[in-house]
Amino acid sequence: MNDSIEIFKRQISHINEIFHSYENLTNDELREKGIQIKITVSNSSDKNETLNKALPEVYALVKETARRFSLGQVVVMANKYDIWLASNYDFVEINGNKAIYHNKWDAGGVPFEWNMVHYDEQLLGGILLHYGYAIEMATGEGKTLVATLPVFLNALTHQGVHLMTVNDYLSKRDYHLTHPIYAFHGLTVECIEQYERYDERRKYAYNCDITFGTNSGFVFDYLFDHLATDPKECVQEHHNFAIIDELDSILIDEADTPHIVSGGMYYNNEDIYKKHLSLIEDIIKDSSKKYYTIDLLNKDAAFTSEGESYISNRLNNKDLFKIRKKYELKNYNLLSEEQRKQIMNNIYLQNVLHQLLRAYTVFEKDVDYVIQNEAVKIVDPYTGRIKETHRWEHGLHTAIEIKEKVKVQDDSDGIAVISLKNFFKLYNKIAGMSGTIMTAKDELREMYNLDCSQIPTHNPIIRIDNPLYIFRTSIQKDEAILNKVVENVHKGRPTLIGSLSIKRADAIEKLLSQRKLNFNRLDAKTTKDESLTVSKAGIGNTITLSTSVAGRGTDIKPSHDALINGGLCVIGTDLFTSIRTDLQLKGRTGRQGDPGSSMFFASLEDHILKYLSTEERKELDDIISNINSDDLSYDNVRYYFKLAQTNRENIFKIKRAKQARKDDIIAPHRSKFYKQRNKVLFDAIYADELINDIITEYNIKINEIEKHLLSLYDKAKELTLRARRNNSNRQQILIPFSDNQHPFTIKYDVNLIQTSLQYFMSEFKRQSILQIYDESWKELVLHMMQDLDQKEIDELDGDYVRMIKNVHQNIISRLQSSSIVFNFIEETPIPSAIINSNQVNTEQLKNMAITKDSPCPCGSGKKYCECHGGNIRNIRRRRI
Ligand code: ADP
Ligand code: MG
Repeated sequence: MNDSIEIFKRQISHINEIFHSYENLTNDELREKGIQIKITVSNSSDKNETLNKALPEVYALVKETARRFSLGQVVVMANKYDIWLASNYDFVEINGNKAIYHNKWDAGGVPFEWNMVHYDEQLLGGILLHYGYAIEMATGEGKTLVATLPVFLNALTHQGVHLMTVNDYLSKRDYHLTHPIYAFHGLTVECIEQYERYDERRKYAYNCDITFGTNSGFVFDYLFDHLATDPKECVQEHHNFAIIDELDSILIDEADTPHIVSGGMYYNNEDIYKKHLSLIEDIIKDSSKKYYTIDLLNKDAAFTSEGESYISNRLNNKDLFKIRKKYELKNYNLLSEEQRKQIMNNIYLQNVLHQLLRAYTVFEKDVDYVIQNEAVKIVDPYTGRIKETHRWEHGLHTAIEIKEKVKVQDDSDGIAVISLKNFFKLYNKIAGMSGTIMTAKDELREMYNLDCSQIPTHNPIIRIDNPLYIFRTSIQKDEAILNKVVENVHKGRPTLIGSLSIKRADAIEKLLSQRKLNFNRLDAKTTKDESLTVSKAGIGNTITLSTSVAGRGTDIKPSHDALINGGLCVIGTDLFTSIRTDLQLKGRTGRQGDPGSSMFFASLEDHILKYLSTEERKELDDIISNINSDDLSYDNVRYYFKLAQTNRENIFKIKRAKQARKDDIIAPHRSKFYKQRNKVLFDAIYADELINDIITEYNIKINEIEKHLLSLYDKAKELTLRARRNNSNRQQILIPFSDNQHPFTIKYDVNLIQTSLQYFMSEFKRQSILQIYDESWKELVLHMMQDLDQKEIDELDGDYVRMIKNVHQNIISRLQSSSIVFNFIEETPIPSAIINSNQVNTEQLKNMAITKDSPCPCGSGKKYCECHGGNIRNIRRRRI
């Protein structure tokens, strides 16, 4: 590995030679160079090899383009793409036959002036990214600019480069900052985070050479694509090259929470939660008994056997905890319906009680969640941001809503799930960067097969990282923090206070207010304008009080005065969750060789010490008993704080590995299933053939099915005619059906349905298969998400086969004549369920499309989500 880095280093001078040779080219000649390279790449058969060869020339081209933009306007002969760009963006303007590229533009609301030319260290970073490394580059070293190099190079293949980061603020920012550099050379660039999922422009964004977005955005699009019922809904085609900014956050911190799309409504029977609330409250109040245990690490709690028998007695249900999983029972299907119901009710109730217990014991307001607009919203523990559309699963969210006495929202089950590890396996190549990677290098190697490399800083770091300050009590600790802040204010230095949670920041806020100190908050709950707060944070003696939202990618620029007075002072109010997250906060200061300092504070009352073993804690207490002062800032005490942090990291590493294994169990089945589902989705003929095969297999009379579909077709035609009369612009119509098991809806093209029986038939068959597939897959995933033992894992193959078999039976039962009917009340006009496919404006689309709360088109008077939309169409994104 080191050998290859030496070779890469030698490439830098080669790039710079070419860069100098470009200096005398006219702007048009420079563009021509780009075109020539593109032609070479598109004519080559071995793209990888060609890109490797073209690297020095391309990197020189990007660097020279950056240099020209730094000097001022760049004027070229206008081409068609320039003209199109000029009508959409402010960075280019057409004047006669010239295109004028400005070097100042609006970067998502913030004025920006380009003044960057790649340094040698940035070239090295760019080379390593192209070769699929995870690189560590300190904060402020310009990773955004580094990425332009491999992104540009790999975009030349038109197979797509996905540039992803942790949040949409950063994603949009970097898209806006770098867009003109790519556009100048004719590359197409978009950012998915600017558009909603069903906006046509999101699909366009994926068809661009370069696509910016958040990791969650990319993963959820992948999952939604495999829930689509219309091929047009699918947006993500290629998985070519992913460059991951803030890589350790995405691949390590977020790896313990898989991405899940949920649908259906299962656990939100709020009455049951309410009914058992007082029971749980009693259990928690009674501290004399050991009714439950808490597992803070896994954010879990469990009833002890004493607790279980207390509950069984109180509820007068002695069998309540007897059976915990349905599949524990070999003979489940042989039991009477009554017995089965009884068992399922008990299992359901166990979950309700368990979730209520967790809600009361391990989930805390303003730490794990906030209440906003009378709703419980999750705070991402790693980024400090609110996860707007996410809900905790299995009824936990409902339990917290009940605890907080806010409105209970719909709950649902996972219907599509993938871990980041398995998502990134879809790509031909991945690479990434962050200020903090090296401490995670072993894990990145093991889990993702990524090599890590550290890039030297352009200027030496002169930041002063003070050793940890330790006090006996948290009151003493906070006093010391406040004294330090006051000292900074007097010195004219800006301070960034980083705290672990909103609750902790609230506590510090109180102390600051008591001392009449002005400050700005930087967190997901109180901050309205993040970029404005960040832009003020380096000026004069500003105090910025933040949560972990400041920990990533945030670029705080100290003012001239501030630098003279010692630069930005970063204060950590506690040790963070890992040494890596401490480093992130430290990295906010001392960027690019600036002066600056960091200091972290701790006390014996800190939560992190819970991660010491009993012996370790005893050793620490022994040492402390020999110290007389309240200030415990000694190396032998510090050792135990670091040890606690390391212990925590190790435990989480194990947890992540366990989570990854869970998805690995699902992965082979998922890829089989998705392949099969896509065949049905994209190929209507295949769906027809599949049905014919099943019909043959089950020996069904095809005539009967066709006769029935024919009668349905006549009715469907009638409905569309009526729909057209009401609104002649209607392009699509949702028609609700029902078999004797489920209600379902199918979206038809109005023109086609009126003229083609064939279209109706094949669409009906195809959609039926997809819906039945999805329902069955959901059940299997739910089963696989549980903690399975080895024997159960071995049996999964059989389960998959059984599932597919079951699907065939269900398809037959759906198609058999007597069971399908229009679930439509004749008099009801066709309401809002019409989507005009010509519209791309999401607002309009949303207004026209049916929402989960609008009345169901079947006319039942119920909400759509409680009726036809109640199954998997009620979809939302969620992370557990
Ligand atoms: P990182 O992501 O590594 O923390 P950024 O990409 O946010 O850093 O860049 C930090 C700052 O450094 C930005 O203000 C950027 O404009 C500036 N910068 C980066 N590279 C250069 C360069 N080559 N020349 C001048 N300024 C640069
Ligand atoms: Mg960055």
